[in-house]
Order: sequence, then C-alpha cells, then structure tokens
Amino acid sequence: MMLSRFLAGVLLLLALGTSPAVASALPGPSPGVRPDWAWPLSPTPAVLRGFDPPAKPWLSGHRGVDLRAAADGVAVAAPAGGTVSFVGVVVDRPVITIDHGGGLLSSFEPVDSELSKGAPVSKGQDIGAVRAGHCPGPPCLHWGVRRGEDYVNPLAFVTDLRPSVLLPWTSAGAGRFSDARRWRKSR
Ligand SMILES: [Zn+2]
Repeated sequence: MMLSRFLAGVLLLLALGTSPAVASALPGPSPGVRPDWAWPLSPTPAVLRGFDPPAKPWLSGHRGVDLRAAADGVAVAAPAGGTVSFVGVVVDRPVITIDHGGGLLSSFEPVDSELSKGAPVSKGQDIGAVRAGHCPGPPCLHWGVRRGEDYVNPLAFVTDLRPSVLLPWTSAGAGRFSDARRWRKSR
C-alpha cells in the first residue's frame, strides 16, 4: 500500500518533469513552517525566470525570481511586514530592500519607491512601482530573498515547495514552473 502510493508519487513527478532532487534542493522557510508571505504582485504572477543561484558566489546566476507584471508601473506589495533597509540605485537599477526580521531580507528591482530607509511596512502594503527594463520581454519584477548572506528561493515563501510536491500539484502551479523552464531554455 505504502509502496504503491510512493510509486504513484514518483510517476506523478515524472509526468510533471520534476525530479525529487530538484524539489528537495530548494531552500525554503524553516522546516515545518508553512509559507505565509503574500505575492508581491497581484493577481498571482507567472514566474518568467526561476531561482538559479550560482554554484560559487563569484559566478553568474539568477539570485531571485522574475515575476511577470501586468504592466510597467504596477504596484509592488510588501510580501511580509518589516522595515525598509535600503532604497536607492544599484549600478543603474532602482532597488528597494525590506528587512523582515529574523535575518530575512527581500529586495525588489527595478522599483521606483517613495519610501525612505527606516520606514515600517506591513504585509501587502504598496512599496513602489515596477519600472521597465529587467526582463527582455514582458514587464517583470525581480524579487530576491536573502537569509543572512545566502540567497534563497523567494517562491518558498509563497508556495509550498517542501517534498510534499509528491502530492498532486495544481495545474496552475505546475504550469508556472514549466513556463519558467521553457523560458530559460529559450534564452
Ligand atoms: Zn531577475
């Protein structure tokens, strides 16, 4: 009984094109904690480019996720409460960073914000507007999350990425990931 259920799960994963190794390698919130952050864009955005951290800090990679924005200029919402720890231009991109406490920081770019460093923000609060330029195609928002010095997958805070992917996924969730993969391949 247990075995057949396990096999069914594996077959499901194969059907979805997701390997258990990939799923378990995704860093998330502390074990046992359900993700309870809000998506920074509304409605729930498609993931145009997934989290792809470099093997070594000095190598290139993608230290966050690119979320499709409905249009340039749409509002960005704080995924969780915290304090603005940085607002400014990094190289050529306007960036806003929120310190959520517990060593967790969210950064968004390119985002024009009128908030100032030190401003408190609540979950869901409008923190700025998406500016064009990050994605080569449609409007998008880059969202990065750090835990201490390490970049972690932001999707882990809004999507349950724990090994429970062995359970049936919603077609919407599976679609988002296959979209992201297709997009990466097409680059
Ligand atoms: Zn990006």
